[in-house]
Amino acid sequence: MSEAVTMDKIVSLCRRRGFIFQSSEIYGGLNGAYDYGPMGVELKNNIRDFWWKEMTQMHDNIVGLDASILMHPRVWEASGHVSNFTDPMVDCKVCKSRFRADQIDLNAPCPVCGNKGSFTEPRNFNLMFQTHIGANADAASIVYLRPETAQGIYVNFKNVLQSSRVKLPFGIAQVGKSFRNEIATKNFIFRSCEFEQMEMQFFCKPGTDEEWFPYWREQRMEFYKKMGIHPDHLRWHQHGPDELAFYAKDAYDIQFLFPMGWQELEGVHSRTDYDLTQHEKFSGKDLTYLDPETNERYIPYVVETSAGLTRNVLMALSDAYDEEATPEGDVRTVLHFHPAIAPVKVAVLPLVKKDGLAEYATKLEHDLRSDFYTFYDQSGAVGRRYRRMDEIGTPYCVTVDYQTLQDQTVTVRFRDSMKQERVSADKLSSFIHDAMKNYRRGE
Ligand SMILES: [Zn+2]
Repeated sequence: MSEAVTMDKIVSLCRRRGFIFQSSEIYGGLNGAYDYGPMGVELKNNIRDFWWKEMTQMHDNIVGLDASILMHPRVWEASGHVSNFTDPMVDCKVCKSRFRADQIDLNAPCPVCGNKGSFTEPRNFNLMFQTHIGANADAASIVYLRPETAQGIYVNFKNVLQSSRVKLPFGIAQVGKSFRNEIATKNFIFRSCEFEQMEMQFFCKPGTDEEWFPYWREQRMEFYKKMGIHPDHLRWHQHGPDELAFYAKDAYDIQFLFPMGWQELEGVHSRTDYDLTQHEKFSGKDLTYLDPETNERYIPYVVETSAGLTRNVLMALSDAYDEEATPEGDVRTVLHFHPAIAPVKVAVLPLVKKDGLAEYATKLEHDLRSDFYTFYDQSGAVGRRYRRMDEIGTPYCVTVDYQTLQDQTVTVRFRDSMKQERVSADKLSSFIHDAMKNYRRGE
């Protein structure tokens, strides 16, 4: 982690440059909810697409799914979320503040109002958001906003199996929103009530999970390195006996060095046949797999890779953020995003507006649009325009100057090294394609 990076600086940059805003800010904000601005939505979509391509297109045995957020309530009984997905909470009887019982000293005064002995007994508080479906708001109409995307995959196991000619081993990948009524939201978008997950459930023959589990651990760590994340900012954490879910065989988290320290980024978990067995029990439907080679019938084992997309956004920002002294003697703020996830890939800047340079640059920028997300900027000194692009992590700035009008060449300025290279305007698109493909941080 760059020593310069703090959560306050990330939050401030995100607001200033249109990455992330507090939800409903003009009404005072809503805790635990965030809005992604023009740059943030590009960054988030790029990370999502990078993951999706990696997990589906680059493997021959993974297919996609987009399950609905609202599901049959029995799903959450089968998964254990109705009875077990709880935090022990206490309320202050005086000021009505609610706290996680394991995060405060129950013998100390209330941290909000200062009254002593005002706490209720700890009570289990379910983290699932509840709502009602249909016209009647009674117990029979209760549905939940899903607290995880994985169950949508499990309940569609048989549908996918029967409709897409997949054979074991195969995986189902899904990206989507999940909701948890977190009382202790903190650290910006790290833990929020509404978030996005990128999950893949890999179904395999019992016993072969011993090979697939290390395989997927390696694949998932490689993914972050391909995304350009600094290897020193990533590490493994194996779940100890106290952390491991009772049905899980083994579980590892990929942790990232966030500004507030090492925290979970993604889980790779060996879940055995627990989930499908539960759904078979609760639904009464046969969820076994008939092995066409051996004619054996069994419930597959599952290896899960579960990453937070919104948490990935915070990781990308924290990893990319730096403040650097420039040769001119000032300091620039720069986001060293891998070009694949950078919101804007190419900025086109005329050196000055007059003498036909703006017209030339405008046409050039329009020509690049079908290949890259571009940005046109003609206001202010060119050095200040470079700085603005550095701050949102734009990897390439193309400058149109007087020489351009004579020989049809432009200057490409590299964000990381700030080096410049003259390139023929008609070769610009393939030049940038190559540069993106061969990108290495710092160059
Ligand atoms: Zn109180």
